[in-house]
Amino acid sequence: MTRATATVASVVFGLTLLGACAEQGPPRTALMGATILDGRGGTPLRDGVVLVRGSTIEAVGQRENVLLPRGTKQIDVSGSWIIPGLIDAHAHVARWALDRYVAYGVTTVRDVHNEPDSIFAMSEAADLGGGLSPRIYVAGAMIDGAPATYPSATEVTDTRSARQAVDRLSVAGVHLIKGYTRLTPELLEAVVDEARTFRIPVAVHLGLTDALTASKLGVASIEHLSGVPEAAGRADPLFAAHQNGFWAGWTAFEKSWATLDSVALIRLAGQLAETKVTMVPTLALHEVFSQLDDTTSTTDPDLLSVPANQRTAWKVPEMLSRAGWTPADFAAFRRGRPMQDLFVRAFRQAGGRIVTGTDAANQMLVPGASEHLELELLVGAGLTPAEALGAGTRDAATLLGADSLGTLEPGKAADLVVLSRDPLADIRNTRSVTRVMVRGQLILADSIRNRW
Ligand SMILES: [Zn+2]
Repeated sequence: MTRATATVASVVFGLTLLGACAEQGPPRTALMGATILDGRGGTPLRDGVVLVRGSTIEAVGQRENVLLPRGTKQIDVSGSWIIPGLIDAHAHVARWALDRYVAYGVTTVRDVHNEPDSIFAMSEAADLGGGLSPRIYVAGAMIDGAPATYPSATEVTDTRSARQAVDRLSVAGVHLIKGYTRLTPELLEAVVDEARTFRIPVAVHLGLTDALTASKLGVASIEHLSGVPEAAGRADPLFAAHQNGFWAGWTAFEKSWATLDSVALIRLAGQLAETKVTMVPTLALHEVFSQLDDTTSTTDPDLLSVPANQRTAWKVPEMLSRAGWTPADFAAFRRGRPMQDLFVRAFRQAGGRIVTGTDAANQMLVPGASEHLELELLVGAGLTPAEALGAGTRDAATLLGADSLGTLEPGKAADLVVLSRDPLADIRNTRSVTRVMVRGQLILADSIRNRW
């Protein structure tokens, strides 16, 4: 039996059973007539139907193959495209941003450091279905070496305290652990080993450990391409800069890309892909920060979705003076961008998994909007639009260990986005969000946008 007939058979069989008890249970909604990109990478399904019951997808198929039980509410979205809900796998969620994520089609976020009480409260409220919010996967407070970069991090000084920090986070119920720049290989090894006991994945923003060492220790994901220059070029000057403080380390790291050897980078991409580590490159962060000296960037229309008091709270000039960036630094950041793209392309070609992440709501990174920038930048780096969509849906769900998310299939969570333009023709069309469904709740994007 071919895969297509198997799908049709199971859909028909499923509906026969459901037909008998159509009067009970939550109501059904069917989105009718769109071209469906189910996220599995196959050919788009034209004149498709997505049938949803409660918060679960019940059937996906061509119109003539999906029987609609009596009482199903039909919504005509012909001429549209439907994709799985988008996932931002590197976020720092703020309460004001929750409905923005939804309006931009981001139905799941992975929060990689936050104030633990508030992020757990937001995550639980989202799971209970209250208000407009994406699903939130939580790391709680990140683990850092001493002195910790941020006072809100958990500082560890030896392998014993590193393991204890993981134990405490595990008891608190985190979905993942986030390790930060001051973790040495010795401390990171203890973190990863302890987290493995609880089967909790570890995401890292590296400073004092290079990317290949971290990957071999078994981290699940590397954020911001951190530790890559340290593994591809001369590590010692970069480690020394990371020792000098966060901004010294970040600046040296970001400037080093322009000096790297492309052959060494491509070789490293292959070695990293072999370890099965996932890359969350956050190209949006690299791109936006490399342009922070350009005042015209404040005219970005997406910024209108950010409340005025939040834009002020970003304190961009103060951040720039803290970082101490000169015009020469910005020039070097911009020279390094093509090398980051080259690495992303080589990692993809070597079979590595790339996942979208943005670092919103850091300075000028707009929650929700920056996910679309990331998709666009991934295509700019050499991914096809279909591959970029996979990075923002299916592959991100794999990183989360969430097998109910990331694709549109019977039995999966009813998280999806309706677009008015074809994202495979131009990846920027992912911005043409008209409706969003999260946990089966269908929302007109304009009804949220009209409130800001
Ligand atoms: Zn971050």
